[in-house]
Amino acid sequence: TSFAHFNLDEQLMHQIRKSEYTQPTPIQCQGVPIALSGRDMIGIAKTGSGKTAAFIWPMLVHIMDQKELEPGEGPIAIIVCPTRELCQQIHVECKRFGKAYLLRSVAVYGGGSMWEQAKALQDGAEIVVCTPGRLIDHVKKKATSLQRVSYLVFDEADRMFDMGFEYQVRSVASHVRPDRQTLLFSATFRKKIERLARDILIDPIRVVQ
Ligand code: AMP
Repeated sequence: TSFAHFNLDEQLMHQIRKSEYTQPTPIQCQGVPIALSGRDMIGIAKTGSGKTAAFIWPMLVHIMDQKELEPGEGPIAIIVCPTRELCQQIHVECKRFGKAYLLRSVAVYGGGSMWEQAKALQDGAEIVVCTPGRLIDHVKKKATSLQRVSYLVFDEADRMFDMGFEYQVRSVASHVRPDRQTLLFSATFRKKIERLARDILIDPIRVVQ
């Protein structure tokens, strides 16, 4: 598979070429077409596999379609991950590729300033990268609404569970409308993750790195 097989448009291909990636990684070869098709997906993949781009590229396509169908306020895509560092890394990737379409990303995580994050959310962004507890805090304070969210990613789900975030992860899922597309990434696929997948995904396709 080459990048051309994904049928991404020229703006995004331009950003990908600028990254100097020579070919898609295995998780991208398998995952990108599935995510582009709109199906829910479980990705068993570790850091270094290229999983971030595997959910960001289809996300950008989804957002551009959805923006036209449903103009309005609030994020269209949410990426939930365990730590501040990962939030910041994913946020950088979202900005890098989202530039192709002038899309905006905001990162909200525990430990950062509530006020500054709330302001960034209110300024508007199509993409929110977050830790789960902090996102819920902002939703409760009405700094943002999840009403328009239709693409939901959980990254490093097993690590979020290890950190005791199961309740918060489930809470985020329950705040997003049921007709969304959901992607769940985890390095391992234990019983607890399997149960989560059963509860928050619909008829998912499983890909293994
Ligand atoms: P990730 O597994 O998403 O954390 O990605 C690990 C690293 O691989 C990041 O620095 C990406 O920029 C890079 N990367 C992602 N996709 C590719 C690709 N197709 N070819 C080469 N490097 C990539």
